[in-house]
Amino acid sequence: FLEKNKPDQLIKSLKMKNNRLGIIGGGQLGMFTCIAAKKKKIKSVVLSETNEFSAKKFCDKFLISDFKNLKNIDKFIDSADYFTIETENVPISIIRYIEKKKKVFPCSKAIEISQNRLKEKKFLNSITGVRTTEYHEIKSFEDLKYASKDFSYKCILKSKELGYDGKGQYKINKNNLDIFKEFNFKKFILEKFVDFKKEISVVVVKSKESTINYPTVENIHKKSILRESFYPAKISKEIESEAIIKSFEIANQISLHGVLAIEMFILKNNQILVNELAPRPHNSGHWSMDACNESQYDNLINSIFFNELKPPKVIGKCRMINLIGNDYKKIDFLKKKYRCYDYFKKEIRDSRKMGHYIILDQLNS
Ligand code: ADP
Ligand code: MG
Repeated sequence: FLEKNKPDQLIKSLKMKNNRLGIIGGGQLGMFTCIAAKKKKIKSVVLSETNEFSAKKFCDKFLISDFKNLKNIDKFIDSADYFTIETENVPISIIRYIEKKKKVFPCSKAIEISQNRLKEKKFLNSITGVRTTEYHEIKSFEDLKYASKDFSYKCILKSKELGYDGKGQYKINKNNLDIFKEFNFKKFILEKFVDFKKEISVVVVKSKESTINYPTVENIHKKSILRESFYPAKISKEIESEAIIKSFEIANQISLHGVLAIEMFILKNNQILVNELAPRPHNSGHWSMDACNESQYDNLINSIFFNELKPPKVIGKCRMINLIGNDYKKIDFLKKKYRCYDYFKKEIRDSRKMGHYIILDQLNS
């Protein structure tokens, strides 16, 4: 009798043997994944490199360890049936190590490409109809001098790996070039500066049989950190469908099974350039928790455990605003008016994402 009142997926998960999800990383994206898992009776196990982490209170189990400690990785592999990431900055050798025994969503190929800007750019430009900004690999000051001249000194030096929220990026111009004379150019690329009109992103979810997307949002960055995403993006139907077609093609080519976010620039002539990929739930998809019937996290769980995606139905216009660094001090005030999310970080740091809030304008209210 009880089962009669439960949605299909819940009945399925209660009967399932493989119902444990291992999540590499315990930040806010991991935290929201744990919450979505719990709703569908999936147990979550988080692997975190730090003692304190956002997902701690929300997971069923956790393991604190260096990602490279194979003894602990073995324990982690035994503790779950399927695996996913909440950050692409995990040594690829570890992803492959897990993959030898159990399935990782998305697969190591997708993670390997999106964790290295050079591989990512080569991959993206190899796809028909997809383009990025121009770039050069940089290995020395000589390379930087030559390449920055090629880009008329309007360019950004970026570390190939481990960058996020603008970290490891340096704007280059004619006047500051010499500062980089003694710089260690081990793993860098130089990107031509894009004089874009707008930034947008599309979140795609793929299971074995189907692919769905969240509607495009527009993104506003300040100091290279996402400040705000809003739906609907103020773009034409043509640009919206072009962005989605490109995103589906990228998801196919990268062999996606799980969630992929695609960040894009729209130029003044309406050309779309792909900026970067994130093979996991994305900050610009947080709004889906409040403004869609099924969030990016819910559909991640659906793609891994149920092979049955639920195309999002949007409730209304929405703004998602990040609380960065000291913005967090306003959270109690904001709570009175808006739906606020706290990431439970122990310490406020400049440029650190501490939480976010949602301004929802329901269509029928
Ligand atoms: P991160 O991994 O830190 O998000 P991004 O490459 O997405 O790195 O850069 C962060 C932000 O910096 C972008 O969203 C954009 O606003 C700005 N930016 C990055 N690359 C360029 C570029 N080539 N031209 C103009 N702006 C850029
Ligand atoms: Mg980015």
